[in-house]
Amino acid sequence: MQLVYHAKNSTDDRYVWIDYWTEHSGKEVPENCPCCGEPVEAPNSFVGAHVRLSKEFGQPQETQHLFVTPTCNDCNNKYKYTHHRDEQFVVEDDYLVDITHL
Ligand SMILES: [Zn+2]
Repeated sequence: MQLVYHAKNSTDDRYVWIDYWTEHSGKEVPENCPCCGEPVEAPNSFVGAHVRLSKEFGQPQETQHLFVTPTCNDCNNKYKYTHHRDEQFVVEDDYLVDITHL
């Protein structure tokens, strides 16, 4: 298990990140969002959130790992900009797909 937080402003449009995550993790999205703990039901949906390891916070960004993992769209939109450090959550290791060197 890893404690993570939302990466700030790292999202880009090279991939549909939830599809990238599904393809590279080989997993199904969980029933509940790991960030807010709520069931994810329409019109909310899972997206591929970019996260960093809390244990690496404070290190130079170039040396930190960057991962994609599913969270609900509400959480991703809530935290990925100015509030990226407000919420930390726990993710199983095999739900983290490393995109550091993409
Ligand atoms: Zn959520």
